[in-house]
Amino acid sequence: MSVLPSTKELREKRAYLSAMQFPPMRFVDLHQDFAFSSFAGRDVIGGNVQSSLKSLSSFQEVVVFGSLFPHVYTDDERGEALTAFYTTPNQATFSSADLLWAGIRFYLYLERSGKACLVRSLSDVNGDGVRILLSLEGTDVLRDPLDLYPLWELGVRAVGLTWNYDTKFAASRRSKRDYGLTGEGEELVKIANGLGMILDVAHSSKKTVIDVCSASKRPVIASHANVSKVKEHGRNLDDEELEAIVKTDGVVGITAIPPTLPTNDLRGLLENMNYVGETFGWRHVALGTDFLGIREENLPQGFEDVSKVVDLARELEGRAEQVLWENPIRVIRAHL
Ligand SMILES: [Zn+2]
Repeated sequence: MSVLPSTKELREKRAYLSAMQFPPMRFVDLHQDFAFSSFAGRDVIGGNVQSSLKSLSSFQEVVVFGSLFPHVYTDDERGEALTAFYTTPNQATFSSADLLWAGIRFYLYLERSGKACLVRSLSDVNGDGVRILLSLEGTDVLRDPLDLYPLWELGVRAVGLTWNYDTKFAASRRSKRDYGLTGEGEELVKIANGLGMILDVAHSSKKTVIDVCSASKRPVIASHANVSKVKEHGRNLDDEELEAIVKTDGVVGITAIPPTLPTNDLRGLLENMNYVGETFGWRHVALGTDFLGIREENLPQGFEDVSKVVDLARELEGRAEQVLWENPIRVIRAHL
């Protein structure tokens, strides 16, 4: 039995939303942790969790960057350092190529079973049903820049240079010695550019952000990151980094990660969006919630799950379509 809503249920839900004066709306989310959450036992297909295919189906059109997060949690001293960095409880991890496989396998299953469509080319972004663009979070499991070629064949269309750890390609936000992009990292950028794979600098060190933006011939994204000027936090971007991303004509996916927000609520997200919009232009503002990657007990008030994107859109007023759809689609179009 399908857990996805039937056409009738969808029609009813949309009728309900329009009765509530929510116009049929569409949005792009630059970061959600579908595969990782599924591995952790959450029902990301039909469940009432931060995000699921079922709840996303209520929107007219939706494109989500589905993260491939090949990391396994463990306990050791690095967890304490991570907890201090994020100011919220965090565990250390190790990376696993098996998990990368499992992640790809999971998303291909969603596609095969008709539960979601994978975005491989530009024509895949429009239409009914949830659209998922596969995005690798961190280069920890890659051995060689050339590994991007098989990943591309498997449907991966975005790559984050780092997660919490330094890699042989780039320094992370938590680097003790910020070396930016390495020679192999530069090669990786070149190959990604050639393929049309989107480069993502969320979690990357400052020098990595600057290096990637100056090396890339295509727009660069920070898929889930906020702004230092709004809230001082190790994960947030300063003006120099924002300017570098803007110069590539990229976008910043403002995120719902609680410790990176000035206040843990919808206002906190809007403050970040306003800062980037007013300082650098609304053309560079987008959304990257990190839903399914946020601790359940600490979700931002008024922005606890994907249904609240409707409230965000209402607050954005005339800018909703640009921020939630046009800007990120422009970046996708510059690649695919
Ligand atoms: Zn992340």
